Amino acid sequence: MATIAEAPLSFASLPHPAPTPADVRASILANPGFGTQFTDHMVVIEWTEGQGWHDATLGPRGPIALDPAASVLHYAQEIFEGLKAYAHADGSVALFRPEANAQRFNASAQRLAMPELPEELFVEAVKRLVLADREWIPAQEGASLYLRPFMIATEAFLGVRAAKQYKFIVIASPAGNYFKSGAPAVSIWVSDYTRAAPGGTGAAKCGGNYAASLVPTAEAFARGHDQVLFLDAAEHKWVEELGGMNLFFGFEDGSLLTPPLAGTILPGITRASLIQLAREEGLTVREERYSIDQWREDAASGRLLETFACGTAAVVTPVGKVASPDGSSFTIGSGGPGQTTAKLKDRLVAIQRGQAPDPHGWVV
Ligand code: PMP
Repeated sequence: MATIAEAPLSFASLPHPAPTPADVRASILANPGFGTQFTDHMVVIEWTEGQGWHDATLGPRGPIALDPAASVLHYAQEIFEGLKAYAHADGSVALFRPEANAQRFNASAQRLAMPELPEELFVEAVKRLVLADREWIPAQEGASLYLRPFMIATEAFLGVRAAKQYKFIVIASPAGNYFKSGAPAVSIWVSDYTRAAPGGTGAAKCGGNYAASLVPTAEAFARGHDQVLFLDAAEHKWVEELGGMNLFFGFEDGSLLTPPLAGTILPGITRASLIQLAREEGLTVREERYSIDQWREDAASGRLLETFACGTAAVVTPVGKVASPDGSSFTIGSGGPGQTTAKLKDRLVAIQRGQAPDPHGWVV
């Protein structure tokens, strides 16, 4: 259901009656946490069947009115993205590969029978919000402004079919470190639950995938772990991904392995960037299936030196310990960050933060 607006949309700027006072903002930015504090503005763009995208506004952030019959509330027709804006030392503001998020957003839209948003419009909406709220980008190391573009079905209709009305919205939230524990490596819980099945929505960034991951995630937290790991649906044997991150394995021969994109895991933009950076470093990167039993065996034999998780929110985070419902557990390497993990993280972060050249043109 691809609908491309005929002409570029003009954005209406709605005045903000009461933006956050500077001292309140400063105290929020000193300790932003993750996902609990929000900036002053939001972008909203409407889509209506027959009309396409219309009524783009940049205005004060606030509640939105929805009919109680809006499809999103009943059949979860919702997709989202996550990307960050970084404050560079020269005073400029940078986004990392926003057009990759726009492309993935449209892939998600296709899977959820929603209208696609022209990539330029997605990127423009994000840029406009970042510029309106640029005072909200925390400057301290590791911090950034997390951007959340999303789309919901707003048509009031209870039949089960694709809606004929949608809202695209972008909000922003100052962000510090994703993991509260501050430990050198995270601990993960292997779930008995399945996240995504072949032919399902695993490769789409839709809210329903995350709703289904909440019980397994709560189990992981209750047992003292930081993240949940999902195995494949059919054999419950192959490593897929974490609740909100992709996984990489580093071996003693210097090679890396990451599970392939076969439709059940999210095609992470961090994952794609790290594959490219690692290959440029001369490392062999295989996109191949890896079983939990092989993982345990390789960790025990010492063939596996490191495992790390990656994603926009968590950046690159080493995995230290893996625990399963059968009571077994194993640790990887020394339980802390390995050499390749640290090297790739440094390279990626330096590009994102404007501290290294950007030969790929990833920084916007
Ligand atoms: N897998 C899942 C399930 C995720 O939610 C995310 C976060 N978007 C990722 C992987 C990593 O994707 P990215 O690197 O694009 O943030």
